[in-house]
Amino acid sequence: MHPARDRRAAPATAASPLLEVRNLETWYGPIAAMQGVNLQVREGQMVAVLGANGAGKTTLLNTLAGVVDPFKGEVLWQGERIHGLDPDAVCRRGLVLVPEGRQIYPFLSVRDNLTMGAFTRGDPDGVREDIARVFGWFPRLRERERQHAGLLSGGEQQMLAIGRAYLSRPRLLMLDEPSLGLSPLLTKEIFGIVSRIRSETGTAILVVEQNAAIALAHADDGYIMELGRIVAADTCANLSQKADVREAYLGGQAAHQNASGTAQRWKRRKTWR
Ligand code: ATP
Repeated sequence: MHPARDRRAAPATAASPLLEVRNLETWYGPIAAMQGVNLQVREGQMVAVLGANGAGKTTLLNTLAGVVDPFKGEVLWQGERIHGLDPDAVCRRGLVLVPEGRQIYPFLSVRDNLTMGAFTRGDPDGVREDIARVFGWFPRLRERERQHAGLLSGGEQQMLAIGRAYLSRPRLLMLDEPSLGLSPLLTKEIFGIVSRIRSETGTAILVVEQNAAIALAHADDGYIMELGRIVAADTCANLSQKADVREAYLGGQAAHQNASGTAQRWKRRKTWR
């Protein structure tokens, strides 16, 4: 059996989540992009990290993927410390990143892009099966199988980036803003398929998004990041009900009754609870 499949066979125990992030801190030169971040993803779970531009979401995923090294803290993968490993070593363990902006190979065909995702694998039959599976999820990619990937639309390129990541046989698929530049309809379609990948294959998902509504609708647990810190963590069902989350991220008209019974808008500088 191929090692990529063996990875899938070893379940994380209840005591050790699939991924545990402890007090993680990453700097770019003098800039602290992320501090004191704690987060967990359990086997088969979908977790969303929400936040505005510059909140530190990409930094978090890049740190987990080994693209940047943390200054402080720990990344535990089934209890093993993996922070500081090279990106290919992280990928071989089953944490696979779909980067912001997709980063597909524009001059390779759709099929060749998918095949590139399987570069760590030595099971050509399994790779062919998985490409067929990706084409089942994304029929538009099958129709464009021989085309240069650079000719695809933004939505199709996002589908290809997700498909290519799946070819690495992830146990945790990390998605950086899959909705970026996409119409609401395409965003919905992509999140629907990501949820399908999760339910059909048991792959856990860690998604960072500015589109809070769609992420909260699909994920189990959510974290809200502001200025490099996690300011709220809860189930997505609970987060969706919180007035401050609704106002700041869901475009809601949350209003609060003050002591005199008149409605007042939530203050901009809020305390997250
Ligand atoms: P976006 O949604 O715009 O991508 P984000 O939440 O992903 O935002 P990051 O890209 O992680 O946020 O950025 C966090 C902070 O780190 C920001 O202040 C940003 O300006 C800074 N930053 C990001 N990358 C670099 C870099 N390569 N060099 C210096 N500062 C950086």
